[in-house]
Amino acid sequence: MFIHDSYNNHQKKVKPLSAKKAINVFVCGPTVYDSPHLGHARTYLVMDALVKYLRACGEKVFYLQNITDFDDKIINRAAEQKIDWKKVAKKYEKEYLDICKILQITSVDKYARATDHLDEIRAQVKRLIAKGLAYETKNGVYFEVKKFKRYGRLSKQKLDSLKAGYRIDLDPEKKDVLDFALWKKSDEKPNFPSPWGKGRPGWHIEDTAITEKYLGEQYDLHGGGMDLKFPHHEAEIAQEEGGTGKQPLSRVWMHAGFLTTSGDKMSKSLKNYVTVADFLKKHSTYAMRLMVLAHHYRTPLNYTEKLATEYDTAWQKIEAYLHTVKMSEDLNEKERKKLSQLLYESNRRFHRALEKDFNTPIAIAKIYEVIAKAPKVKECREWVLEHLKFLGFEYSPKKFGTNLEKLLKKREDLRLEKKFKEADKIRVEIQKAGFTLED
Ligand SMILES: [Zn+2]
Repeated sequence: MFIHDSYNNHQKKVKPLSAKKAINVFVCGPTVYDSPHLGHARTYLVMDALVKYLRACGEKVFYLQNITDFDDKIINRAAEQKIDWKKVAKKYEKEYLDICKILQITSVDKYARATDHLDEIRAQVKRLIAKGLAYETKNGVYFEVKKFKRYGRLSKQKLDSLKAGYRIDLDPEKKDVLDFALWKKSDEKPNFPSPWGKGRPGWHIEDTAITEKYLGEQYDLHGGGMDLKFPHHEAEIAQEEGGTGKQPLSRVWMHAGFLTTSGDKMSKSLKNYVTVADFLKKHSTYAMRLMVLAHHYRTPLNYTEKLATEYDTAWQKIEAYLHTVKMSEDLNEKERKKLSQLLYESNRRFHRALEKDFNTPIAIAKIYEVIAKAPKVKECREWVLEHLKFLGFEYSPKKFGTNLEKLLKKREDLRLEKKFKEADKIRVEIQKAGFTLED
């Protein structure tokens, strides 16, 4: 499979570093201080579908996600609610994991909390100081950006224009505004011990400490939202490639586009967000996945309530198709030939679309096409189910059990005897069981 690599701006094959290894995937996880919104869900759904697709195609994938369970935002939230920061982190971590379960985001192999990796974080900071890439001030330890020549390359920005974005600098001892914190000194609790005094780790160093531990110094695919390119992912590259001397940190950098509302990025700071929990009160988890995957992952997805309702309807149509019982499933030779051609061709295009930068909108269109064009026979229903599964839908239609089969047989007999009224009663019974009957 080829994915657009944001670092080099061209499509690159997703494959393991060595034939024996799994494809190692890392995606920036949540900072657990609030409820996840649809913007977060988009990225995680896309990545879940990608990993499940790779696995369904026979690839071995190891999927790692970090959880930022220690951060200023968490501490502020704890102060607001007058509870311990650990409780805040725990509460929102649980909410995040519960929501992932409801959204059927089940492909992550390992969730790694920042606070469980303080040793690895301190070791990386030490290594960067030893290499002359980081320096200590009264207030903390900073990465010296000008010593890492490739800084800015991922986000395609010149250092001067990046600098223009910075107005305030809290530490006057910093050599440059772009230098970012690896360790922030603080006597205020909560804090952790370190060779540079008590304090807190910087956000970016959490990720590289965690990825180096579980995936090694280099890995295959790093995913995340577009907004994380700068400074977060630039910093990750600088820390790890600077620290190990090996490049690239990740062979492929995959960035998901924004989920917007009336043109603005959905975000906590703009207060224009819809939480996943609120979405799920009105819409189904399948509608959510369908809506996300019907848009290419790199394009913006402008969310409206109307759009969500449209995808509810779209999913209901798929569901109805999967629960249609046809009186006669026999096809003649000509029909059978036509059907196998359609399924073969749709399958080929489905996979070709996904292989080429994970074009899920085309893949989904192929599913719709089979539903619209193919006869409603078992073979086609199975094809649709199988292809939904490729995209990470975990769905099993109601089983058409022997009891229903008996009813169907009885109805057929009644119709042959021209007892239509009684036959219709059975039709209603079958419908009540959740199936559509087609004569
Ligand atoms: Zn991250």
